[in-house]
Amino acid sequence: MTTIFSKIIAGEIPADIVYQDEQVTAFRDIEPQAPIHILIVPNKEIPTVNDMRIDDEQLVGHMFTVAQQIALREGIAEDGYRLLVNCNRNAGQEVFHLHMHFFAGRPLGPMILRK
Ligand code: 5GP
Repeated sequence: MTTIFSKIIAGEIPADIVYQDEQVTAFRDIEPQAPIHILIVPNKEIPTVNDMRIDDEQLVGHMFTVAQQIALREGIAEDGYRLLVNCNRNAGQEVFHLHMHFFAGRPLGPMILRK
């Protein structure tokens, strides 16, 4: 089972890749919901947060380090940004390959939809 994100990571389908190393790839979201909307994705296929293993802790920590670097590169570290991970149906996860959304470029509003 190869996800659309694995195909992007492998270079089989195009994406605007802003960062890549042996553990993580980051690319611009195809339907941005903020002026800057980047997905930070482990190269390894982990479907959801529920599927993480203890061995993945370093990898997931590295996703935060990459987010920090992207914030500096995009010039918005001081203005601020939001990191978000959806898990399963109630969070609206659409692509079952773990990913961190990186949103920035304007005030991002309330943390979640209020009832
Ligand atoms: P989720 O709802 O799973 O947390 O977020 C999936 C995200 O992946 C969505 O924001 C969606 O726009 C993005 N996305 C889905 N397919 C593609 C694609 O082929 N290329 C890129 N760059 N983003 C995609």
